[in-house]
Amino acid sequence: MKTISILGSTGSIGKSVLEVISHYSEEFRVIGLTTRKNFQIIQRQIKKYNPKIVGIVDPVIAEKVKKNFPSLNIEVGEEGIVKVAKEKVDILVVAIVGIAALKPTLAAIQHNHTIALANKEIIVASGKLLMEEVKKREIQILPLDSEPCAIFQIYKNIKRDDVKRVIITASGGPFYNLNEKKLWEVTPEMALKHPVWQMGQKITIDSATLMNKGFEIITIHWLFDLQMEKIQVVIHPEAKIHAMVELKDGFTFSLLSPPDMKYVINYLLHYPTRTPYPFPTPPLEIESLHFYPPDEKKFPALKLCREAERKGGTTPAVLNACNEVAVEAFLQRKIRFPQIWKLCQEVVKKHTPEPLSWERMWKADAWAREECRKLVVDYEKNRSYS
Ligand code: NAD
Ligand code: MG
Repeated sequence: MKTISILGSTGSIGKSVLEVISHYSEEFRVIGLTTRKNFQIIQRQIKKYNPKIVGIVDPVIAEKVKKNFPSLNIEVGEEGIVKVAKEKVDILVVAIVGIAALKPTLAAIQHNHTIALANKEIIVASGKLLMEEVKKREIQILPLDSEPCAIFQIYKNIKRDDVKRVIITASGGPFYNLNEKKLWEVTPEMALKHPVWQMGQKITIDSATLMNKGFEIITIHWLFDLQMEKIQVVIHPEAKIHAMVELKDGFTFSLLSPPDMKYVINYLLHYPTRTPYPFPTPPLEIESLHFYPPDEKKFPALKLCREAERKGGTTPAVLNACNEVAVEAFLQRKIRFPQIWKLCQEVVKKHTPEPLSWERMWKADAWAREECRKLVVDYEKNRSYS
């Protein structure tokens, strides 16, 4: 039996992981679950999966849950999540959104856990440092994201030295065909309706701005030790091909599956064994697959990510922090959709990069959040939406 903990079990990825596990109750034992503050879902999960330890960030919610499960080990606050991450398991799934996943992931690395990593924000913010820790301890990172997971699978059949370039696909999000002016009229409700994927709020907005794809370029760069220039993006609205790897002899491998993260989860949870997909599998229709070049003028996030990584040091951490604040502000209707990247551009431009260390990364993250919050107030005041 494999033991497993899921950080961020109440989110979109977390719930999908548990859904897959439900089909293999004799194969997996759930050890730990965590949530920020989702009372209903965490209670349901505790009843169903009977974990040994639960982490809840919000102390009020934690108290309420403790009353209903007095004998369960419930750890509270950010430290509580770190405690769950340290608990010995065969696989630790990191499905917390944003930089909040960093401390627990580092704790898990220090405890030599195999990590199925869905979160990409922490690789963007701390790529070099994080990968040093991973390499030092020879940790297995299983990439729980469709594009990196596709590359991971293709890489099993090729030699790294033979790779000429990697192409990852982006669905393009809901606004790919809108003109620039119309982008200013996009509301959170419109942006939260992704045409293909069902995901949490932050990544759904990141997909609409294409920031998610930019973050994936950076993630792939670090996870596969691949130069940024060798990673390209193509818009593929059907989201059935996830990545292609072109080799120096002119052959290209691609990996396809229906656009549902449960395929990736089922593969990674059983890795390296292949197991039948436990849900109905509709036939993969490949009669009409489309590909377009990304419009980097209308959606500057890809360029922003490439430039931030090129500048290096603390810059990608600043970009990630800005994006987190900007997405939140957009969801709260404080800023308009294109202002998400405008805010990021402005603060990144203002930032003087420093060589990356853990201390400097956290300092840059805090500085960027503060700068963005000030700008959000400015943008709010000036509602002319130029
Ligand atoms: P989500 O918003 O649905 O879930 C986030 C989870 O993190 C929840 O359980 C929430 O309680 C927890 N959480 C939020 N803030 C926290 C904090 N400050 N401290 C501790 N826990 C906190 O998000 P999601 O869509 O499941 O995505 C999770 C991560 O996986 C993201 O980094 C995303 O980019 C990545 N990812 C998601 C998908 C997808 O299909 N949803 C695909 C690939 C990668
Ligand atoms: Mg992806």
